[in-house]
Amino acid sequence: MNQLIDPFDRHITYLRVSVTDHCNYRCHYCRDEDHQTHTRRSEVLSFEEIAKIVRLFAELGVTKVRLTGGEPLLRKDILYLTKMLGEIPGLTDIPLSTNAHLLPTMASQLMDYGINRLNISLDTLNPQRHKDITRGGDLDIVIKGIDKAIEVGMGPIKLNMVVMKGINDDEIEEMVEFAIGRGLDIRFIETMPIGLAGIEAVDRHYSEAEILERIQKRYGNKLIAQKAKQTDGPAKALLIEDTNTRVATISAVSNHFCGTCNRVRMTAKGDLVLCLGQEDSVSLRDAIRSSMTDDEIKALIVSAITKKPEKHVFSSVIDNISNRQMVEIGG
Ligand code: SAM
Repeated sequence: MNQLIDPFDRHITYLRVSVTDHCNYRCHYCRDEDHQTHTRRSEVLSFEEIAKIVRLFAELGVTKVRLTGGEPLLRKDILYLTKMLGEIPGLTDIPLSTNAHLLPTMASQLMDYGINRLNISLDTLNPQRHKDITRGGDLDIVIKGIDKAIEVGMGPIKLNMVVMKGINDDEIEEMVEFAIGRGLDIRFIETMPIGLAGIEAVDRHYSEAEILERIQKRYGNKLIAQKAKQTDGPAKALLIEDTNTRVATISAVSNHFCGTCNRVRMTAKGDLVLCLGQEDSVSLRDAIRSSMTDDEIKALIVSAITKKPEKHVFSSVIDNISNRQMVEIGG
């Protein structure tokens, strides 16, 4: 039975776990130019600690755990963690978010270890733009990674494109065609003003309404509205007729989907973050490294959930400057 119910009657069934705050890419909306990751190994939760915390969440009613980062595939022996999580009773879904750079060599093993559902960040199909946006990424390797994931049978795979005015907004239709060609879903994400990097990206904001207008114009009556699947989260999906591709938008800025929010996040250092738009967190690392019993830690989690705010506050951007970078919270 789910015991994680917040004061707004939202049932928390989804935990996003950042396994590292290191990333091989430096996307400019995710971390600011000077941001360095200096986290010491001892500060980061071990796999045993992550698995124990996830087990406690599962006992409280969480059924879905997404592995994210930083870049989760950079964490050494990540497959060992996926195996540990796969053995936790009650978890029914363990997807992973990645920039795909390491998929050419890791997709097959991930599949063997039960990770089949992926969200892949891909903001452009132009190699130079990709290099610029990610500050050094390699589009060719990313596409090889996507194709490898498809080849080994992973799915469903969702592409995530952060749409930015004047940077990649001219590629919306091309990205949909890319997704159709490979039978993938695609989601267009509004840039969120989180951390200095996100706030700097605000003037490149491209709204959900503009994105949908473009999709409507191109695909018109081929769009079939979809009932939200359990795996959709805040995305609103449209199936393109005669394809396997669903197009969706995630509009954290234009719209509040907070009323149906079912998620919380845990950073690589074990901070439980209740909402992307808030500074508050509770250290589960301190709890797990103390003499607290499992029941006491569960009580701490239940109590933290009562502090989940009703909605995120992105509108007063200046008031919302956070020292945290997206790369640390895990998206
Ligand atoms: N490295 C993995 C990846 O590339 O997907 C996982 C971590 S990344 C922080 C998770 C997601 O957060 C990505 O889809 C990324 O595009 C998104 N993201 C980061 N900063 C963002 C921002 N300011 N606004 C909207 N989405 C953002």
